[in-house]
Amino acid sequence: MKTEQSQALFTKAATLIPGGVNSPVRAFKSVGGHPRFIRSGSGAFVEDVDGNRYLDYVLSWGPLTLGHAQEDVLAALAEALHRGTSYGAPTPSEVELAELVVSTVPSIDMIRFVNSGTEATMSALRLARAYTGRDKIVKFVGCYHGHADMLLVQAGSGVATLGLPDSPGVPAGTAADTLTVPYNDLNALAALFDAYPDQIAGVIVEPIGSNMGFVMPEAGFLPGITEMCRQHGSLFILDEVMTGFRVSPGGAQEKWRLDPDLTCLGKVIGGGLPVGAYAGKRTIMETVAPSGSMYQAGTLSGNPLAMAAGLATIRGLLKPGVFDGIAQRATALIAGIQAEAATAGVPLQATSAGTMFGFYFLKPDSPSERPITNFETAKQYADTERYGRFFHAMLDRGFYFAPSQFEAGFTSSAHTSDDIQATVKAFAEVIASSS
Ligand SMILES: *Cc1c(COP(=O)(O)O)cnc(C)c1O
Repeated sequence: MKTEQSQALFTKAATLIPGGVNSPVRAFKSVGGHPRFIRSGSGAFVEDVDGNRYLDYVLSWGPLTLGHAQEDVLAALAEALHRGTSYGAPTPSEVELAELVVSTVPSIDMIRFVNSGTEATMSALRLARAYTGRDKIVKFVGCYHGHADMLLVQAGSGVATLGLPDSPGVPAGTAADTLTVPYNDLNALAALFDAYPDQIAGVIVEPIGSNMGFVMPEAGFLPGITEMCRQHGSLFILDEVMTGFRVSPGGAQEKWRLDPDLTCLGKVIGGGLPVGAYAGKRTIMETVAPSGSMYQAGTLSGNPLAMAAGLATIRGLLKPGVFDGIAQRATALIAGIQAEAATAGVPLQATSAGTMFGFYFLKPDSPSERPITNFETAKQYADTERYGRFFHAMLDRGFYFAPSQFEAGFTSSAHTSDDIQATVKAFAEVIASSS
């Protein structure tokens, strides 16, 4: 596979942009090699600047649930574009998208659109603090909630990949109000509530630990958090930036009947344009300015192009059969690779949930039954070197998985069952040849 153009661009980019990328995980640091520069996407495929095509399981890290350059999304964007790109005034499309999200995601009464998932979680925390009059926040180790200072503590995603426990530049004072406990550990959470009575504003959690690979919540974990929050007057903040419109149309909260006070959204709701949102119960959301006193604003928030892409994407996803079809592809992929791994005797922990999936190659001495339940065990048992070899072997065959063992994968309505079969076949070849 020729990759000269990508290499040349990366060399040049590295002199202009830190590390040659605008978001760390794109740099291939944890799998080695250099990133491919993408010039176009169509359906389930992306094409790089050297003309190589890849079946894409990254999908812009989740947003493109209908695939690349999907025709309804393009038509909605084109139509919006000709009416101008931004007005800094309210528009009909933001009301339409708000109505659609409120009617689809069970716990949400009101929503405020922002420009990224990071802004969504950052604002949700400010709101939790404003509403409760408390300062402390609890997060789970390995959960990634964007790069805001108080959340960049024991975070997953690129931070996991790069092995930065915290980032320099995050003041100790800011981090001091962020308390962390292991994922899936309710006892540790209970101990924190005991240690900090009436001080915890909220507990933020990813319903699936999908920035440390793919760690499912154990039965009772998420309801247990809800219960403790209610008992202690803290807000339960569900970060559905990735799982929203992916675990089920109404997110993880719909599938598992959760009732968060606040929900963070992003990714799919922007359909590939920059959007985030924080949302929740009316009494809490009314604390946000100008209806209340918690200040939060944005020049481009609710941008009409982004709203148009989000609307077209969610409407497409809600058409009969669409979501289930995408989810079936994820199920088939995971079933296929599990079967091939079992045949080849390669230890693998693999899971799908709705239209998302994840798998870990396990080190040979790992316990046999799904050993990874949190970030600690992910680091302990995941065979990241094997993942790196797998990643490159798949890339060479035209399959684009996340360039890190600690990230989730995604399917779209553009992925066909033939695509899945081809992927499973390539997976089998690769694990047979590179042990
Ligand atoms: C991606 C992600 C974020 C951050 O969103 P950005 O748009 O990258 O700022 C926050 N939380 C979760 C769970 C995410 O997956």
